[in-house]
Amino acid sequence: MSPADVISGLGAIVGPRYVTGPGADMEPFVVDWRGRYRGEALAVVKPGSTAEVSELVRWCMGNDIAIVPQGGNTGMCAGSIPLAQRPSVIVRLDRMNTVRWVSRLGDAIAVDAGCILADVQAAAEERNRLFPLSLGAEGSCQIGGNLSTNAGGTAVLRYGTMRELTLGLEVVLPSGEVMDMMTSLRKDSTGYDLKQLFIGAEGTLGIITGAVLKLFPQPRRRAVALAKLERIEAALDLLALARTRLGERIGSFEIMSRGQIEVIAENLPDVQIPFALDTPWYLLIELVDTLEEMDLDGAMEGLLGAAFEADLVSDAIVAASEAQADALWKIRHSVSEGSKKAGYVVSHDSSVPLEAQAEFVNRISARIAEVRPDARLAIHGHVGDGNLHVLAIIPGIAQDRMAEMKDAAEAINRAVDDVTAELKGSISAEHGIGATNRARLARVADPVELAWMARVKTLFDPAGLMNPGKVLPDASARAEEAPLRSTA
Ligand code: FAD
Repeated sequence: MSPADVISGLGAIVGPRYVTGPGADMEPFVVDWRGRYRGEALAVVKPGSTAEVSELVRWCMGNDIAIVPQGGNTGMCAGSIPLAQRPSVIVRLDRMNTVRWVSRLGDAIAVDAGCILADVQAAAEERNRLFPLSLGAEGSCQIGGNLSTNAGGTAVLRYGTMRELTLGLEVVLPSGEVMDMMTSLRKDSTGYDLKQLFIGAEGTLGIITGAVLKLFPQPRRRAVALAKLERIEAALDLLALARTRLGERIGSFEIMSRGQIEVIAENLPDVQIPFALDTPWYLLIELVDTLEEMDLDGAMEGLLGAAFEADLVSDAIVAASEAQADALWKIRHSVSEGSKKAGYVVSHDSSVPLEAQAEFVNRISARIAEVRPDARLAIHGHVGDGNLHVLAIIPGIAQDRMAEMKDAAEAINRAVDDVTAELKGSISAEHGIGATNRARLARVADPVELAWMARVKTLFDPAGLMNPGKVLPDASARAEEAPLRSTA
């Protein structure tokens, strides 16, 4: 089928103005967020309804064309870029961006999967409710992408990941059938919970077109503090102390290394760092409560006082206003942007059991220093979830040294993955596998688990046309996959 036939075939389903062919207009959709991978697509297509998604899936399957679902294209593993050696189209749900219904009594919101996360947060707030998923890319990532990566973010400690935040799902399967699981039921024990298969599947089993998400009471009070720590172990003792004193009021517990904040300060001059960088670790604590009269500042002061006495904290700043609280959060939300500008970033998304985090940091620091002594370490993450993002940043302009950078990344990944496996952790806590981590998964995963994942994939997608080459090897590709193509 000629490229022109593809464009007219898809245009007949969704309307010609919602199909973009190769050229400058397609550029933002074929390059990943980090700017490292460039794919090739016959077209970018934007359906306007679940029925159109179903029709275009059937059309693609009938014409042996692979489908790459794409949300906001903010993912960290090039999962939404067509990189396999087969004719592909990118499917974006930008036009499917409405709130379908809200259950006030059931605390649930049903949305199209093309809704931008920040818009869902705003829709919840308008109804005096909270949708708690929160992450740096919330202004552009979409619910479909959040679901497909099982996104985490900064509020997992209290509210859980996307898996825990989802009540129902609507999915267009590779067969074109629509699986309607759009329920707000809190209890349902009728066999297999199939929606969970699609959450975290990174578009390899179908296209998510709708979701029913949990809402929560809107917090009325918050207190934000930044504590300085000499040791990462102190963060966990402080978490235990905070849980005992404050229970469910701990909203976020986010750690940054001094190296991480230095990278932000050097590369993003607009971000204010209102404290001296004189300790190795910085812990951002947010307490929240729904009770207006709750003295959360007092609770925070009490917690930090007890932490000083227990020698867990060497100094702390408690935000005196909402603006100061936002300024402290701004530092945390700038880690990706700041690091991206600092050099070639080899980033990790490991989780390990909570008590193993200090050991994890010690071992990976030593091993990365062995394999790449010039790499700068910047560490941040959700310490309360056992999820640390370790960034090894190789300074300098990398464009003309891509082969060297790829070798360095491989050696660093291997070192980090080995330590993660030794400590019984996961190489991807919240970002997914996509194209970039597939070989790493194959190296560390249990072979039995991997083989059953491949069987599940074949069951849903026997032709291997749904986001081929992501998560699992592209078993049905006719040609060997080319090495990933890089722009940087
Ligand atoms: P995309 O990147 O477009 O796609 C991601 C995957 O989902 C791809 O495999 C794609 O094929 C699939 N997909 C997308 N839409 C659909 C659909 N409708 N149906 C089926 N499959 C689909 N992530 C975190 O978890 N926590 C963080 O704290 C965090 N912070 C970030 C900060 C910044 C500054 C940036 C840039 C990213 C951050 N991320 C974080 C990563 C990213 O934002 C999340 O992975 C997000 O969930 C991806 O959503 P997206 O809409 O951009 O998906």
